[in-house]
Order: sequence, then structure tokens, then C-alpha cells
Amino acid sequence: MLTKEVYTEYKQKAIEFLNKANIVITEEEKERIEVAEYDQGNPAVIGLQLVVYVNTERCCAKELVLLPGQTCPEHRHPEINGEKGKEETFRCRYGTVYLYVEGEKNGMKGSKPKGYEDVLTAEHEIILKPGEQYTIMPNTLHWFRAGDEGAVVSEFSTKSRDEYDIYTDKTINAAGKRNI
Ligand code: ZN
Repeated sequence: MLTKEVYTEYKQKAIEFLNKANIVITEEEKERIEVAEYDQGNPAVIGLQLVVYVNTERCCAKELVLLPGQTCPEHRHPEINGEKGKEETFRCRYGTVYLYVEGEKNGMKGSKPKGYEDVLTAEHEIILKPGEQYTIMPNTLHWFRAGDEGAVVSEFSTKSRDEYDIYTDKTINAAGKRNI
């Protein structure tokens, strides 16, 4: 759980990065920017900021802001009651995103944050620069980290359901989950 001061600081930084990416959001959206810290209490390393535009029964769109070096922890979106898990497309708008999915190792240009190596197992690297995108199919392990300039990423997906995601790091409990 973040203090109000820390939340406000990260929210403000997120607004700055959205400005750098030339992404306009309303005052109401600025107020409801979320800071996901996955119950780790270490948002500078494990965390990201997001604003959800829409999340209906069938589709979801949001903006993700990662400060320099911030990491979204490894997880997958499983099938639920016979319904396929979440499919998501990440499109980089600003900075560089180092995205990792399960599959053949192809040499990592990016790096894992220290102390979290064991819970970031996927090492098939996809590097996204502004205007580039990648689609992650359901139930595929993935995690991602911003480069030194931070990153802004648009996410387009099927419905987000926070409570069903499976994290590699078992210390991320249900309360700490945030479906990305
Ligand atoms: Zn995801």
C-alpha cells in the first residue's frame, strides 16, 4: 500500500510522461491514474502507472506508463471457465519497452532488476520503440521493463479480470494483482 505522498508523486510523473508522448487525457482521467505496486512496496522497481479508458465484457483499452527501469512482474492470463484468457497488444508510444515472453531465448539486450531474477523467467525478448507493437496470446508468460528513458505503452486487449492472473512471484497476492 502506497502513502498518499508517494502515490501523488508517481501519478504526477505519469502525467509528465503522457505529455512527452503527446497523449491527451482528461482531468478526470488524471485523477484516477492508478499506481500498481503489486504489494511489493518497491514501486521504483516493481510497478507501473495506468489509466483505463474502457473495460467492457469484450474489450479493454488502457495507457501504461513505466518510469525508467520500472518493471511489470511476470504473469499469464489463463482460461477461465472454458473462456480463453486475456489477449493483449502492447503498442509503444514513447521510450523503449523490453518485453519478454516465454519461448526460445534470443539474447537479452535489456536486463532484469536485481533481486527479482528468479521470478522473471521468460527470456524471449521483443524490443518495442515508438510505433511498434506486439500481441501476446492468452496464457503466455510475459513481463516487461522500461528502458532508461521510461516508456508509454498503449494496451488493447480483451476484457481485463484482475483476480484471475497468475503471477510467477507468489508473494503477489490477490490484493496486489493488477491486470496488465
Ligand atoms: Zn498481461
